[in-house]
Amino acid sequence: MEPERAERARDRLVDQLTAAGRLSAERVARAMRAVPRHEFVPETACEHAYEDRPLHIGREQVVTAPHLVAQMTELLGLRPGQTVLEVGTGSGYHAAVVAEIVGPENVFTIERFPDLAASARAALDRTGYGAVTVVVGDGSMGLPRHPPFDRINVTAVAPTVPGPLVDQLADGGRMVVPLGSRDGSHELVVLTKRAGRVERTTHGRVRFVPLVGEHGFEGSGEGRPGELGRGRWVARRRSSMAGRRQQPPTGTPQGWSYSISRTSTSNVSTWSARSGSKSTVTASSSTSTTSPSKPVIAWTCNPTSAGPSTIRSNSSRS
Ligand code: SAM
Repeated sequence: MEPERAERARDRLVDQLTAAGRLSAERVARAMRAVPRHEFVPETACEHAYEDRPLHIGREQVVTAPHLVAQMTELLGLRPGQTVLEVGTGSGYHAAVVAEIVGPENVFTIERFPDLAASARAALDRTGYGAVTVVVGDGSMGLPRHPPFDRINVTAVAPTVPGPLVDQLADGGRMVVPLGSRDGSHELVVLTKRAGRVERTTHGRVRFVPLVGEHGFEGSGEGRPGELGRGRWVARRRSSMAGRRQQPPTGTPQGWSYSISRTSTSNVSTWSARSGSKSTVTASSSTSTTSPSKPVIAWTCNPTSAGPSTIRSNSSRS
């Protein structure tokens, strides 16, 4: 889609949402005018990117409809500089809208499907939100090593509020989370933490895909955690995986592994190994010329060795 045409379509969408009373915060409107939604959807859905509806992104998942992105972002009450955890990266679009307000370096987003995380990573890089951190893992557990977060945005419906997310919310922090049953209707809930107490308000009926995981609808074990810093995905064949008994994480094409490479001077990543896990995360080196602060990570399915909980790379500095 040509940039001018996309910009006009975006303006029209934001104007429509505003006229319909579904968007009122100027900050959110500005962010939604800025983020090119068509860059975050599959090419086949590109023509529909500026219609107010969810769009399929693969793995039976969707990018949230714009009016809901607007509502949830408004409910988060974002200010520049706040740290935000998003659970359910999906396409990466909502993370980009949030990043537009708080600054990309303050946004952490978790996705359970590695291939969706990879597409989101690529779209965020392409559109100028490369400093957003994308993590593959069970977002219902949050990111215990990164708290506290000023805001937490859960973009899939949970049966109950995931306890670890409440723990990782800063005092004065706010969480937006859809709650409900797997197949029923869902309610958009805002939780505000004050002096250790959590206040709850409700904001209407909505419909979301399920949050699957330890504190979601079922313990799935999918999406082995590994931090995907800003960078480039490289898929390469690993013939050594052929015939092994253990399966790679969901989303990893049969017999393939993924590497993430990016420029960095600091190469620390966390990976919370869960018992029984047979995947490893290894750090690789980079010789590129820029020096941002995010890690260089190669993430590899290695069915034979158990993964460490913290990875430090000996990668070379640029
Ligand atoms: N925010 C997304 C966007 O802008 O495209 C839309 C998210 S989609 C409605 C919900 C996402 O949550 C899906 O991509 C799904 O795979 C993911 N998800 C579900 N359970 C999860 C979990 N426990 N951890 C991380 N991601 C999860």
